[in-house]
Amino acid sequence: MNGAALVALIDRTLKLLAERTDELRDLDAAVGDGDLGITVGKGCEAVRARLHALEDPSPVQIVKAAAISAANANPSTMAALVGGGLLAGGKALGEANLFERADALTLARAVADNIATRGKSAVGDKTILDAMVPSVDALEASPVGAPDLAVLAAMIDAARGGVEATTSLQNQRGRAAWLGARSAGHPDPGATAYVRFLEALATAWTAPDNQSTGE
Ligand SMILES: [Mg+2]
Repeated sequence: MNGAALVALIDRTLKLLAERTDELRDLDAAVGDGDLGITVGKGCEAVRARLHALEDPSPVQIVKAAAISAANANPSTMAALVGGGLLAGGKALGEANLFERADALTLARAVADNIATRGKSAVGDKTILDAMVPSVDALEASPVGAPDLAVLAAMIDAARGGVEATTSLQNQRGRAAWLGARSAGHPDPGATAYVRFLEALATAWTAPDNQSTGE
């Protein structure tokens, strides 16, 4: 897809994701400070506004603009990690005018690697990585000719599996780790937010372009 189509897709996705902020706030409140709802809500709003203001952007410009908007929208660790991850993802992308499945893999892998490094976290620590890394693996493993929605469905399955597999574990990073054993039994809020992002992306993917912008 070209830059305009990518902006429209991101816009639809983030509009849908912003509808899940109450759920994310409640999940975060159970194990932390409950700010994840605000972080995601303000992040979605800031990225959408910034992308609307770009004129004929390339995919790299879109990702970099989204990175800066996401990082600056809210002073939270999650916003900094996602913004920093997207910035690294933008650097990994070439200067092409089109954004294809291979670019999505390059971007997503760079985001996950950067979050792992900067967050000093690995799969199994019960963070966003437990949903993100398996979903990126599913993207990488998808057959070349597979339909986009089938690939997205496989990514969502893998991400949900990561949340389910770590719910019974204790959080090893972030504020939730302070709870120790009491964090066990709660789904990780950051990993759940990533699942909700992928679900929003899958819904946005099927929405007609003429419903893309507005509010
Ligand atoms: Mg929090």
